[in-house]
Amino acid sequence: MPLDSGVLPDDDPAQELKAQYGHLTGLDFLDAMINDAFPGRIAVSSSFGTESAVLLHQVAQVAPATPVLFLDTGMLFAQTIQYEKKLRTQLGLTDVRVIRPDPDYIKSYDPDGTLHKRDTDSCCHMRKVLPMEHALQPFDAWITGRKRIHGGLRATLSMIEHDGKHYKINPMVDWTPEQIKAAFTGHGLPRHPLEVMGYTSVGCYPCTGLPEAGTDSRSGRWAGQDKTECGIHKAPWAGEGI
Ligand code: SF4
Repeated sequence: MPLDSGVLPDDDPAQELKAQYGHLTGLDFLDAMINDAFPGRIAVSSSFGTESAVLLHQVAQVAPATPVLFLDTGMLFAQTIQYEKKLRTQLGLTDVRVIRPDPDYIKSYDPDGTLHKRDTDSCCHMRKVLPMEHALQPFDAWITGRKRIHGGLRATLSMIEHDGKHYKINPMVDWTPEQIKAAFTGHGLPRHPLEVMGYTSVGCYPCTGLPEAGTDSRSGRWAGQDKTECGIHKAPWAGEGI
């Protein structure tokens, strides 16, 4: 998989990184990011969702002690919590950090856990965006599992981005469903327990539904709303979630 051009403004700091490491692919690219470009200064974010095992398996091959940031919003499916424990053990990941929202914010703004019914953006901001911003403070870069096949603005994703604060590394940006399936099979990776029920993308239980036939894998997320992203990822050139 060649390093793509994606959508990068000429003055984007990611250009320099791309010039230095753009000839690398696959595990060599991931290895270079973790062990050469950002040693001790890079983390992986993972939802432990339906595709997460593939990227986590790659990270475990290259550097199993890489910090893995797992956001437990307090609204996750029990199956996701179980899956995180299973994958962590099977892959030998030694530094999974469970990130949670500030309990004082929950007490003040969502004491009965119904904010998601009235204002999903505020709920995501409190339960996801703020905790992730805090967790990322010690790092210069983070690795994500986002892919162009997720649709929406993600169809324009680059393998390397800079969001104004951090470099974001997207090593699976151009993976296809067939490649993902082959990786699960080839490496004996366990599937998310909800996948067998038809879920193709899994987040918080109040905002996750089954995808409609013929739509992208994330169409079950915030179904019926304009919202397609939680707000953690911003496209620097668009000012929108990606
Ligand atoms: S996905 Fe839904 S429940 Fe989870 S933080 Fe966002 S609005 Fe709240």
